[in-house]
Amino acid sequence: MGIYVHVPFCRSKCFYCGFYSVASDRLKEAFIRALCAEVDLRRDYMGTLGVETLYFGGGTPSCLSLSELQILTEKLENVYCISPFAERTIEVNPEDLNAEKLEGWRRLGFNRLSIGVQSFQDDLLKGINRQHTSRQVLEGIEMAQHLGFDNISIDLIIGLPGQSPEILHQDLMQALGLSVDHISVYMLSVDAGSVLEKRYQKGLFCPLSEDELADRYDVVVQLLKEAGYEHYEISNFARNGKYSTHNTSYWQQKPYIGFGPSAHSYDLASRQWNVSNLKTYIESLNNKELNFEREELSCVDYYNEYVMTRLRTMWGIKGKDLREKFGFCWDHFIGQMRRNVERGWAVEGRDLFCLTESGWLVSDKIFSELFL
Ligand code: SF4
Repeated sequence: MGIYVHVPFCRSKCFYCGFYSVASDRLKEAFIRALCAEVDLRRDYMGTLGVETLYFGGGTPSCLSLSELQILTEKLENVYCISPFAERTIEVNPEDLNAEKLEGWRRLGFNRLSIGVQSFQDDLLKGINRQHTSRQVLEGIEMAQHLGFDNISIDLIIGLPGQSPEILHQDLMQALGLSVDHISVYMLSVDAGSVLEKRYQKGLFCPLSEDELADRYDVVVQLLKEAGYEHYEISNFARNGKYSTHNTSYWQQKPYIGFGPSAHSYDLASRQWNVSNLKTYIESLNNKELNFEREELSCVDYYNEYVMTRLRTMWGIKGKDLREKFGFCWDHFIGQMRRNVERGWAVEGRDLFCLTESGWLVSDKIFSELFL
């Protein structure tokens, strides 16, 4: 199984961000205590399953000091049986990439860095309220590689305000120059509650049209594939087999437990999510209470989720597996998928069904037609 830890602190709020986080570290100590209490209270939730992946996300986990991170990792190590070969990822912002922190993260067992680069253009970064510069990215990644991190992922965004096709091309070229084995490329979305949403509502920001985004996505896919990256999931590209094991386990319906405010958990039969409010999260755990909502998954929910997550990846769906698990919806599935094959959005071969890259671009439509 996987463990996800949501660290809900950021130095400031990026204008596009809809994730739950707070731009103040006032409650950091209380959060660390609360998270340890949550780990204790939920120690029986997944039984004795071994842990294959550990993922510290957020928020900005690299905002935490090494001693704070140590308290959390030791707590998890004391309660769970974490494989010595586990993938242990920490999401970091480039301004935190210094020798002290990098060495500390390695000592704590993190063997994979996921770095929020977004763009290499300093004026674009300022325009979305990121706190780093491209120089910090370049120097920080070089230092991380020098200190032994050989599993590094970077995030980039398509469609940032002011990002012309030429600038996007430059960003990609700089990304390729870094020699990292994993690149995630997300399309900018106008998330509820974000600054960008307010600007959009006031007419101060005009997002790219779907066609413009699609054209840019095509260019990104082509360039990364030419550079030897496998396009293994809608937004993810890897070289040398360095897929994100943690995220891949979400797409393969493996169980995971999420700690921290707003974190989700999945135990194969139900899904639950913690309260998305740091203060309430801490208060509940101070009273030794868990504060979450829960949803039991019906057969139909499970089928919908299976189809949506599996088809996001290049591994697709094996017909035999789907018939065994969801025989009752095979006729619906095969009818829809053959339509998608005719539209050029899917391929069928030896009882295996995958979406094409043009299918991934319209995946929301495909999934809604496949859902029951
Ligand atoms: S994008 Fe990341 S760093 Fe920026 S506000 Fe959101 S969680 Fe924080």
